[in-house]
Amino acid sequence: MKGNYTFTIIKPTAVRKQKTGQILADIIAGGFRIVAMKQIRLQEHEAQEFYRVHRDKSFYQQLVDFMTSGPIVVAVLEKENAVEEYRKLIGSTDPDQALMGTIRAKYAESLRHNAVHGSDSDENARLEAKFFFSQREIFDGLEFSSLAWDEKKSKNKAPA
Ligand code: GDP
Repeated sequence: MKGNYTFTIIKPTAVRKQKTGQILADIIAGGFRIVAMKQIRLQEHEAQEFYRVHRDKSFYQQLVDFMTSGPIVVAVLEKENAVEEYRKLIGSTDPDQALMGTIRAKYAESLRHNAVHGSDSDENARLEAKFFFSQREIFDGLEFSSLAWDEKKSKNKAPA
């Protein structure tokens, strides 16, 4: 069964242009629940680490420079089949290819300044959420999170 969590970043240009509220409204209207969220600014070494899969790509340094250029908003989102559903809501990486009504079609300026990040797998969603949040910052109910922080805990998910 597909996981129920994904991770997102509202990128620097969208935050600078005060689009955070509209993007969050679209996320909530899309049926997602925000279970963790904060505004931060990445340091160079953090951006390098977060995007290390792209370290051999020509655009890597540009991407790191952009992602450290201003505050970002990071969040963990909950919905059934969250990773796939969120990729649908945000649209293609290149906003010119993104379907009308998707977040990237509405708020992205270019491939580089494409408004948001969304995890591409359940495993990456978990790793990315963990990269930015401690378990005590995640709330999927009134209590601290039952979001699986490791495989062992995931088998012991507390009853709702
Ligand atoms: P995503 O999962 O849809 O965000 O796409 P990727 O993981 O392939 O790429 C990560 C991010 O790198 C994208 O969201 C873009 O902002 C950026 N990116 C991807 N391709 C390019 C490119 O050719 N040039 C530049 N400057 N940025 C790119």
